[in-house]
Amino acid sequence: MSERGRLSTDLMDEIAVLRARVAELEHAEATRPDTEQALRESRARLRTVVSNAPIILFSLDAKGDVTLSEGKALEALGFKPGQLVGKSVFELYQDQPDILKAVRRGLAGETFTDHAQVGEAWLETRFTPMIDSSGHVIGCIGVATDVSDRVRAERALRDSEQKFRLLAENIPGLIYLCHNDAPYTMVYMNDMAEALTGYAPAEFLDNCITFAQLMHPDDLKIVYREVEAAIAQRRAFHLTYRLRHRDGRLLWMEEVGVGVFMDDKLQFLEGYIIDITERVRDHDAVKQARDELEQRVIERTDELRASEERFRQLAENIDQVFWLTDLEPPRVVYVSPAYERIWGKPAQGLYDQPQDWIDSIHPQDRDRVRDSWQRELMTGELHEEYRIVRPDGAVRWIRDRGYPIHDEEGKLIRMAGVAMDITDVRDAEARARKVQEELAHVLRLYTVNEMVTGLAHELNQPLAAIVNFVHGTRRRIASGVMDQGQLMSACEKVAEQAERASEIVRGIRRFVVSRESNSVPSDLNRVVRDALDLAASDREAAQVTTHLELTDPLPSVDIDAVQIQQVILNLVRNAVEAMSEVEESHRQIEIRTELTDKGLVRVTVSDSGPGLGANAAAHLFDPFFTTKHQGLGMGLSISRSIVESHRGTLQFRNRTGQGRAGASFYFTLPISKVSE
Ligand code: ADP
Repeated sequence: MSERGRLSTDLMDEIAVLRARVAELEHAEATRPDTEQALRESRARLRTVVSNAPIILFSLDAKGDVTLSEGKALEALGFKPGQLVGKSVFELYQDQPDILKAVRRGLAGETFTDHAQVGEAWLETRFTPMIDSSGHVIGCIGVATDVSDRVRAERALRDSEQKFRLLAENIPGLIYLCHNDAPYTMVYMNDMAEALTGYAPAEFLDNCITFAQLMHPDDLKIVYREVEAAIAQRRAFHLTYRLRHRDGRLLWMEEVGVGVFMDDKLQFLEGYIIDITERVRDHDAVKQARDELEQRVIERTDELRASEERFRQLAENIDQVFWLTDLEPPRVVYVSPAYERIWGKPAQGLYDQPQDWIDSIHPQDRDRVRDSWQRELMTGELHEEYRIVRPDGAVRWIRDRGYPIHDEEGKLIRMAGVAMDITDVRDAEARARKVQEELAHVLRLYTVNEMVTGLAHELNQPLAAIVNFVHGTRRRIASGVMDQGQLMSACEKVAEQAERASEIVRGIRRFVVSRESNSVPSDLNRVVRDALDLAASDREAAQVTTHLELTDPLPSVDIDAVQIQQVILNLVRNAVEAMSEVEESHRQIEIRTELTDKGLVRVTVSDSGPGLGANAAAHLFDPFFTTKHQGLGMGLSISRSIVESHRGTLQFRNRTGQGRAGASFYFTLPISKVSE
């Protein structure tokens, strides 16, 4: 019981005693007038006590009118002692049904304690009935104590308790109060205990399960150590550990706690625990992803290093020069060591001065390569063959191929390329060309040898004509019938025939003479005609009719005319020879020139011979393949290499359809640049 509660009970007892004493005194007063003085004194004492006691003492008659109102606590209600006497409680407190209800209970003879708020004050009032000698209730006595402070304190406590409960129940973590013993015996836990561990707070409080049991044994030792250290240093402990949930899952927990000290003695531990499993898992996932990434980077780096090493070995040991250059500004980024071997000078010169590349080029090739490089900067591809002059004066042939490198927006930023020394290839080609030229020459000699009879006949004609003219002229001069004009005309005819004879000789000479190939833009129709002239005697002897279908004009081609003439001559002679078994009236050669839809010039020589059997077709172009007694078997093989050296192709097919038999040989040549 509170101090005030006890006080009011004591007072009431005292008052009861006083009441008995008053009754006794009143009785004595009536019977013993001599005690009046003593009685007055006693009343005065009583009033003094009552008016100073921190209570309200009141009495009501049966109607509820106040018969007594005393006590210091009256002041808290705004009244003075005695002020309320004669007033009706039912009127005074007509607005406060709680008070009136208590008054009625008191007047009904009940003894009880009531709590009521009167104005600002909280009063605890003990009601006691007043009963007369015949047992009737004639009123009641009330002793009220002002308990406002206590009520306010209780309310504040209730409020704070409620707040704490709200907090404890709604906080997203486990709040606990436990003993600092080994199992961490719980004194209090909020409901989150169940969410976090699967066990209800009651199960912990009843010690069915302990927190230490749930902790991972490896972590428990660390937890004990950290808690102990924190308590010793009077600081908060911060823990991260694994906890086995009732359903078997192992969860990660984070805890912050402190020791609760009372009178400098550790009483409890209290703290806050949250589940950080998700966070740890996320962290683990991130860590794993990072580890994997790192691993991949390491592997990739190794791969790159290996591939770089392979490239380095390749670049350093291969005979080709790998190069990489920025375009704007021009800067050599890389050039492989073969550069130094081939160019015969340090690569550093190129890094320092990219212009050095152009400067090394042979003066005769330099402008062409520079122009081409400028042009290729737009299309982005370079394919050039050129000579370089090394510092020691040696000349080397280089084949250089460059490829474009674009940035993300498709802009040309770099060129990468491979340059190789093709001097040996060029030399071999030159040697092969020489051999081929010599062979072709031999073949021509052989051909002329073959043609000699025909040529003799051919030459014979103009020579015979000259002889005839000269004889005729001499006769007519001798007989004196020739005038000057006739003489002049005869001389012209002689000169004409002599000219024709010498042209035939020149043609043969051109054809036979050994010479280096020399390509110039030429008219292919002209070459065809010259070849036919050379084969004229053959054709005539063999009774072959020749049919020409020449496209005129025809774009010019860059050729060595004598060589192409030799090709056509070979084809014509083969055609003539192929028709030896054919009836004379059916011996026909067709020669056609045309421009193909691929922009090439094509020459076709067709005959009406037997065509080519499977064996001949398979070996036609093999050197020394011949089906003729007198044949060399070199004609087609040399013809093909001549055509190919002019960047053309030589092919054949058998003619079929519409009763036509025979073979067609045709070759194509690119038209010269000036004609394009
Ligand atoms: P040769 O004329 O000295 O035999 P070629 O290389 O010119 O050498 O010809 C090889 C062979 O190809 C000839 O022997 C012949 O069998 C065949 N041949 C060439 N042209 C024709 C043709 N127009 N018709 C049929 N066979 C041909």
